[in-house]
Amino acid sequence: MLENNDLEYLGNGPAATGTSGGWGMRQGLYFKCTSCGYFMPADPQAYDDCFCGRMYKDADAGRFGSSLGDTEIEVYRAVPHQQRSHRPAHRDEH
Ligand SMILES: [Zn+2]
Repeated sequence: MLENNDLEYLGNGPAATGTSGGWGMRQGLYFKCTSCGYFMPADPQAYDDCFCGRMYKDADAGRFGSSLGDTEIEVYRAVPHQQRSHRPAHRDEH
């Protein structure tokens, strides 16, 4: 999946997912362990953990986090190549 997408960095911690009150698990989001660099898909149905074991996702228990703390998890959003825009930001000209 990553071959067809670029990843846009959104920020660190649960607030970067755009969901108030916790981690917003949804398709197209990825969490990166700052310790080992592993990208974890934000699939709420799957169990996963990273290479170094500090970041983990337990779907059955509904738990997700890092032993280093939430701010040590970087949040990314997958952006398909074809939707990527290189045009400059639109601005009104009067
Ligand atoms: Zn790790």
